[in-house]
Amino acid sequence: MEEKEKTAGQLRREILLDQRKNGYDRLTPEDEEAMRLYCEDYKKFLDAAKTEREAVDETVRLAEARGFVPFKRGMAVIPGDKLYRVNRGKAVMLAVIGEKSLADGVSIGAAHIDSPRLDLKPQPLYEDSELAFLKTHYYGGIRKYQWVTIPLELHGVIVRKDGSSVKVAIGAAPGDPLFTVDDLLPHLGAEQAKKIMAEAIPGENLNILVGSRPFKDDEGSNRVKLAVLDILNQKYGLTEADFISAELEAVPAFGACDIGFDRSLIGAYGQDDRVCAYAALAALLELKIPTHTAVCMLADKEEIGSEGVTGMKSAAFDTFMSDLCDAQRVALKTCYEHSFCLSADVTAAYDPNFAEVYEKRNSAQVNYGMGFCKYTGSRGKSGASDASAEVVGLVRRILDTAGVIWQMAELGKVDAGGGGTVACYMAERDIDTLDAGVPVLSMHAPFEVTGKLDCYMTYKGMKAVYEA
Ligand code: MN
Ligand code: MN
Repeated sequence: MEEKEKTAGQLRREILLDQRKNGYDRLTPEDEEAMRLYCEDYKKFLDAAKTEREAVDETVRLAEARGFVPFKRGMAVIPGDKLYRVNRGKAVMLAVIGEKSLADGVSIGAAHIDSPRLDLKPQPLYEDSELAFLKTHYYGGIRKYQWVTIPLELHGVIVRKDGSSVKVAIGAAPGDPLFTVDDLLPHLGAEQAKKIMAEAIPGENLNILVGSRPFKDDEGSNRVKLAVLDILNQKYGLTEADFISAELEAVPAFGACDIGFDRSLIGAYGQDDRVCAYAALAALLELKIPTHTAVCMLADKEEIGSEGVTGMKSAAFDTFMSDLCDAQRVALKTCYEHSFCLSADVTAAYDPNFAEVYEKRNSAQVNYGMGFCKYTGSRGKSGASDASAEVVGLVRRILDTAGVIWQMAELGKVDAGGGGTVACYMAERDIDTLDAGVPVLSMHAPFEVTGKLDCYMTYKGMKAVYEA
């Protein structure tokens, strides 16, 4: 049968109109299989890395298996070298040295490995009405009502009085006990139900239930608390005062899993931003000898403003980069001004159940690929790095050449809210930076959802940028 000739209108449509298409209508069979394998590895990473410290440990384990070695000041830095440096156990930087000099700049993938959670207060343990609880201070932007009546695990580190430390991961192993924050029953919840959502669960009510059985053969008060401390002492050599020098984080006790009859989605805790951290890492681990040096920066403290010695504002990143530059006798400023950074962080996926807060034409959609944001911020782009047209144009060409499925988006309607990323702190260093990442449903909830296609395309996009 003869093919019907296209009308002038059809031809002009093909050329002129930007027609967005679902990623599954563009996915190649090769990418489909690679996507399946990638997402299985990603889910394993999520289960191994429920805190920033665990994300660092797992990153180092994966990197060392690929031949990465710790980078010490003064070491020679030659093409093909695979180096990493851990910042205080809570952030990590990796580099694959390229053919070109560091004076020609580096390609950076920056993501964060801290996630919203419930941190224990310094003096957390108390007993009330013969029940033992741990006081918490939430970390990051949580919707408090989402954190009650779900199973929780307790992860972190305790530094004892003598300086020795012990790692804790209670709930991570099969058969471990779990913890929870209780909530009011509906029968007595009439007054609570009248409150606005932000006030229904006050921050001081986020107390974690950790025991109910009194210490045997004891006449004193606080017998349940004593019994809990006795267990902690036997298991970890802990006394009550040791909580003061501990960092314990309550995180959801959900393993990463497939969501949907078609298994097209991933449900898990902490995908903001481990979904991008894993993409930036996995792409870097695949590199042989790139043209430009590739750097992966996995930062802590993004959820509370990138502050602190392990956050993106810390000079630890500059020190790592200047140590690399020193080895090639290159000025750090020369390296920075020729560098490019993808600030890889999640964005909001369009949610038809809450359509009123999105502007559909400019929202990221699940399964439309890696999401790019020219700017983030709120109230007139405040707090955004706002990448230039030239930078966006360059990235467009890189992605299209590499066959990456991607989309351009912004987070929600103008003045509906907003958010920031580490992008502005990279840009402040005189590094051209663009925001990019995976669209997420239920961002910051204990259980976040992403599309497998978008996860994989973010990995593929990171790799294209490292190899450009
Ligand atoms: Mn984030
Ligand atoms: Mn976040």
